[in-house]
Amino acid sequence: MAELLQQNIWESDPELFELMKKEKKRQQCGLEMIASENFTSLSVLQCLSSCLHNKYSEGLPGARYYGGNEFIDQIEWLAQKRALAAYNLDPEIWGCNVQPYSGSPANFAVYTGLIEPHGRIMGLDLPDGGHLTHGFFTQTKKISATSIFFESMPYKVNPTTGLIDYDKLAEQAKLFKPKVIIAGVSCYSRCLDYKRFRQIADENNAYLFSDMAHISGLVAAGIIPSPFEYSDVVATTTHKTLRGPRAGVIFFRKGLKCIGKNGEKIMWDIESRINQAVFPGLQGGPHNHAIAAIATAMKQAKAPEFVTYQKQVVANAQKLCKSLQDRGYKISTDGTDVHLILVDLRNTGITGAKAERILEDISIACNKNTVPGDKSALNPSGIRLGTPALTTRGVKEIHIDDIAQFIHRGLELSKEVTAKSGPKLVDFKNILETDVEIQKKVATLRDEVEKYSQQFTLPGLDEY
Ligand SMILES: *Cc1c(COP(=O)(O)O)cnc(C)c1O
Repeated sequence: MAELLQQNIWESDPELFELMKKEKKRQQCGLEMIASENFTSLSVLQCLSSCLHNKYSEGLPGARYYGGNEFIDQIEWLAQKRALAAYNLDPEIWGCNVQPYSGSPANFAVYTGLIEPHGRIMGLDLPDGGHLTHGFFTQTKKISATSIFFESMPYKVNPTTGLIDYDKLAEQAKLFKPKVIIAGVSCYSRCLDYKRFRQIADENNAYLFSDMAHISGLVAAGIIPSPFEYSDVVATTTHKTLRGPRAGVIFFRKGLKCIGKNGEKIMWDIESRINQAVFPGLQGGPHNHAIAAIATAMKQAKAPEFVTYQKQVVANAQKLCKSLQDRGYKISTDGTDVHLILVDLRNTGITGAKAERILEDISIACNKNTVPGDKSALNPSGIRLGTPALTTRGVKEIHIDDIAQFIHRGLELSKEVTAKSGPKLVDFKNILETDVEIQKKVATLRDEVEKYSQQFTLPGLDEY
């Protein structure tokens, strides 16, 4: 029994541990350019593997369904206090819930709290850079539960400029009459016009819900506009640019809402609705190890180094944009204000899927993505590239040109593969897996990328 309980993972389960070590090695050897990823700190990892994991604490601090929550309460209060402080929010007018298991459950809890079943929501369409949980559905299927249990209508970007078409949103919102308008993106390289979103929400008597999941680190650092001034509710993940644990946080307005016609005070009433949507509505016991990790990540977000880091993230994304443009690549919206760029590959003859695959083969991780005006969502024409994870490893502008060159060489190589395979993705993959000459070229490039990556440090534990 003692053995079962006290052995190290490398003793108790070498089979699993081997895989964990391999994953660590992969993270070390590759260039991680998936825009939603990051490498969290040792302190966050220590929270995640602590005793806090063991405790059940359904309810909110001070009002739990279980005993023994003296310290868990203090930890959750600390996380709440620091989350508000990270965004310079006055606790008299903003509250927060740090229990959501991740971004998607947080968003579902927001809708559940704010509106009735089948209430109407409008979010940026997924192929235009929005998120699944903003109500995504297709012609044939309601994909996200947010489109099954709520009625959603997407708004779009202008297919030529790639910028959100606020005028059309305003026009269509008048017809659809949404109860929630969502300002939030997963693949959009420009700052959002929250003031305009607020106007449109007001015209329709709708809530403005800002989902800052991707950009919450940049917002905390104060280097891009904050959604809080104009929003009623703000949600975020804590594991993307914010660099904390895999979790979610919801911020909501509280206190005085406005003065009514007869001079009476009208108060916000969404705090308890959102809290109850999280628990008992959608979740059970909070993940206290994650909540502790949120607390320490929010503390880190107040450090001067964090601001320096976020500035470097954006500088690196802008440099990457320029380096690729110099090599003839088209970047959606012709630039970036944030941590990512969307490369439009339509002028190269390479599809997003092929680009993603060849880059993966040379140890550069990114994802295929639709670009504005794409004909098919199933066969996207772009790739999304982000700099948060690279920047955590110490990548600076001087390295970005080398990295752009690796990407360029990978994409050029994919043209060679296509010349042999023809247009079909299966044939493309088949050539990659069987053609000896191509495999040699891929291996050479991969070795170069892997050697290059290893000069950069990774936070966390040494081996796993
Ligand atoms: C990543 C993301 C989410 C969902 O987060 P998960 O933790 O993956 O569930 C929600 N909204 C936006 C805008 C995101 O980018």
